[in-house]
Amino acid sequence: MAAPETNKPNNDELYKRATRLTLLFLIIYATTQYFTAFQPSPLSYSAFKEQVAAGAVKKVSIKNETITGEFASPASGTGNQPATFKVILPPIDDPGLIPLLEEQGVEIAAEPTEMSVVMRVIVGVVPWLLLLAFFVYSSQLMQKRMGGGSGGILGFSRSKARRHEQETIHIGFDDVAGLDQAKQDLREIVDFLKTPEKYLRIGAKMPRGLLLMGPPGTGKTLFAKATAGEAGVPFFSISGSEFIEMFVGVGASRVRDMFEQARKAAPSIIFIDEIDSVGRVRGTGLGGGNDEREQTLNQILAEMDGFEPEEAVLILAATNRPDVLDPALLRPGRFDRKLVLELPEMAAREKILQVHTRKVPLADKDCLRDIASRTVGMSGADLENLVNEAALKAARDDRTEVSVQDFEYARDRVVLGSEREEVLGEEEKKRIAFHEAGHAITAYRMKHSDRLRKVSIIPRGRALGITEQMPEEDRHNFTQEYLEEKISIFLGGRLAEQLIYGDVSTGAADDLKQATLIARKMVAHWGMNEELGPVSFPQSEEHPFLGRDIAEQRNFSEDTLKMIDREVVALIRKCEQATEALLEKNRTDLNRLATALLEHETLEESDIIKLLD
Ligand code: ADP
Ligand code: MG
Ligand code: ZN
Repeated sequence: MAAPETNKPNNDELYKRATRLTLLFLIIYATTQYFTAFQPSPLSYSAFKEQVAAGAVKKVSIKNETITGEFASPASGTGNQPATFKVILPPIDDPGLIPLLEEQGVEIAAEPTEMSVVMRVIVGVVPWLLLLAFFVYSSQLMQKRMGGGSGGILGFSRSKARRHEQETIHIGFDDVAGLDQAKQDLREIVDFLKTPEKYLRIGAKMPRGLLLMGPPGTGKTLFAKATAGEAGVPFFSISGSEFIEMFVGVGASRVRDMFEQARKAAPSIIFIDEIDSVGRVRGTGLGGGNDEREQTLNQILAEMDGFEPEEAVLILAATNRPDVLDPALLRPGRFDRKLVLELPEMAAREKILQVHTRKVPLADKDCLRDIASRTVGMSGADLENLVNEAALKAARDDRTEVSVQDFEYARDRVVLGSEREEVLGEEEKKRIAFHEAGHAITAYRMKHSDRLRKVSIIPRGRALGITEQMPEEDRHNFTQEYLEEKISIFLGGRLAEQLIYGDVSTGAADDLKQATLIARKMVAHWGMNEELGPVSFPQSEEHPFLGRDIAEQRNFSEDTLKMIDREVVALIRKCEQATEALLEKNRTDLNRLATALLEHETLEESDIIKLLD
């Protein structure tokens, strides 16, 4: 990305200003010096008193510590001009001076105490200069805080929406992998932006606003830029969160300014990233009933309404919280078109990997497909990170090509966390081996479960060991059988410990949590329970993208709640029995797998197949 165009004063400009000020200062100083310099050179005090005593002085004028005066007789060679003199008074009072002057009949005048010209300049100008410097400094600071953008003290309300000229955006739809549907939807708009006349001629109106929604890292920002690049139009972007840190009243004027700029540059694209930070439902008091935010949002709404139909300005916005947006934003005429960017599927993941490995030398060109199949649930940003981790690993090991093993390493690190340098005791290790073997055997023997990819007893992240399964294809729908097996697999670790040692350990806490979560959803959410029937009883609801809980009100009876709890336990008990029987039956396999794990620590899919079949 090229540097954004700004009209903020750069260092050179500031330097010039400072030089000018200094020069002005010097001129004033020199002028005052000039006038002081041309005054008569001072007479000594004693010489002055002698002159007075001799009656040679006609009049004096006393000001501060200086006395100026005229001699009675004109100076030689100056015609009738009286000769003047100047005396500096000693700092100690001389009580005899006034009587002496009076005695000699010298005319005495006194002038009010006054500062010297230089002092006057300093006292009069310096405070102002300081004040000015302070203003300049603080406005610079303000601009820096707001990321720069406009010039001068008064320019701070100018939009900081960065303007990217068409040539500064070098990415197009080719740089966005997958998202074919979204690209298809935008082609028409891109065409409108390229040749507005064609559409306007037949009275077609351009869609005004388009909202990109999707989980973080799915390429919303990237896609907006690519759209501008594809259409070859100016691109103005601002992030909603930037509005928030601004001063009161500034957000709204920035919006006004950005829209004004975009209108002038039409056809153009405005991009408001993270719009949820300004576009939350108004009046909810979230974020402290933020007036500033509401004003900003209102300004956005007003600007969007103010467009003439023939103005070719497209407003893109992105959010990963579409559920919190103010309905006014989604009204027809505003962001009435919506595009959902989902987490990439297998094929899209492969394409994203291809895009990001363009500059990465690969040992095996065909490995990307395999990697794509093992990165279910990763976003575009995750995949980009994965490629980078793999390249880092290869470089660390002084290799010139990135291999499948590097990707494996990177993936394990990203997904499972780094390996922990922990020394476990023999007994503990053995128990973990049996625990993981229990998960693995259950997974391996269950009919509907996902492929078993890896078992390891090397502690990683928070886990003491891992059993990894990965579906061949992305799954969108789960059958009751599949889910029950899933619960069984989670219970397998604990049950293997029970079988071998006759007791259980705390190592299964996370397994139980997962199993219970699935069971609860089956019972209360997916209508998979005979007793309760096909009814959905809202539990605390998870956010569709973030996996975060959204509080929801319970609107069913206490009795139902009890019943749900009872049925969840019953379901888990049922799965437990099935798993127990399965492990009992496969006890030799369990032993064999645990022994192999103790020996090798990590077993890959192929090793497991060899061992168990
Ligand atoms: P979002 O705005 O949705 O959170 P970004 O657009 O910032 O995500 O994406 C982050 C990075 O992930 C991008 O810079 C890009 O490198 C990568 N990325 C995400 N989706 C894709 C995609 N479909 N194709 C290529 N790269 C992608
Ligand atoms: Mg983004
Ligand atoms: Zn476990």
